[in-house]
Amino acid sequence: MSFKSLEEMNSKLVRCRRCPRLVKFRVAVAKRNSRFLGESFWSRPVPGFGNIDSRLLILGLAPAATGGNRTGRVFTGDKSASFLFSCLYDVGLSNKPDSVSKDDGLRLEDLYITAVLKCVPPSDKPTRQELSNCSDYREFEIEHMKNLKVILTLGKIAFDICKAYYKSKGYDVSGLVFKHGAAYRLGGVWLYASYHPSPRNVNTGRLTKVRFVNVLSEIRDKFLS
Ligand code: SF4
Repeated sequence: MSFKSLEEMNSKLVRCRRCPRLVKFRVAVAKRNSRFLGESFWSRPVPGFGNIDSRLLILGLAPAATGGNRTGRVFTGDKSASFLFSCLYDVGLSNKPDSVSKDDGLRLEDLYITAVLKCVPPSDKPTRQELSNCSDYREFEIEHMKNLKVILTLGKIAFDICKAYYKSKGYDVSGLVFKHGAAYRLGGVWLYASYHPSPRNVNTGRLTKVRFVNVLSEIRDKFLS
């Protein structure tokens, strides 16, 4: 599918039903969560957040069940969002240290955030087919970022998806290995890798605030100043 503008893409995106398993799950998950009983969930594909003319793109995996899938904004209303935004705030890339709801007044600085998959997958495990189904949305976003200098991928799936995308554009990606803090030049764009700020990684100490802020600080100082 091709799109004339980001607005047109988003209007088609929020009605997308290409992945039957995810269409079911994004609705079902709302009924399972007693913590948010009575709250109406977004339960649709979640668009990107921020200014598409930014130089930095942060690419996550997918909306969280009670995060983006509940609030309708990517990295909003869950623990991963709180961790991510406490770090973004520390390095001056957001005006608030948390991301709570669509109307919380949060603004991003030279940053656009989106996910490689726009619907929440069961157990955070999308199938290859689902990732492929969603490719035209994320690729349009990347191609629409005319000032793009850096992509920070959160987690190996997002990193591998980006690698495959640049390979399809003719770049040699054979030496690209997922490692926290690794950075690779692909023409005019740098691709960074980081562990995903999920509670699993944060609670086990695999990803600490210091480690994540270090990556963000490097990106800010090298590319956004
Ligand atoms: S994951 Fe992407 S392709 Fe699949 S239903 Fe959601 S928006 Fe559509």
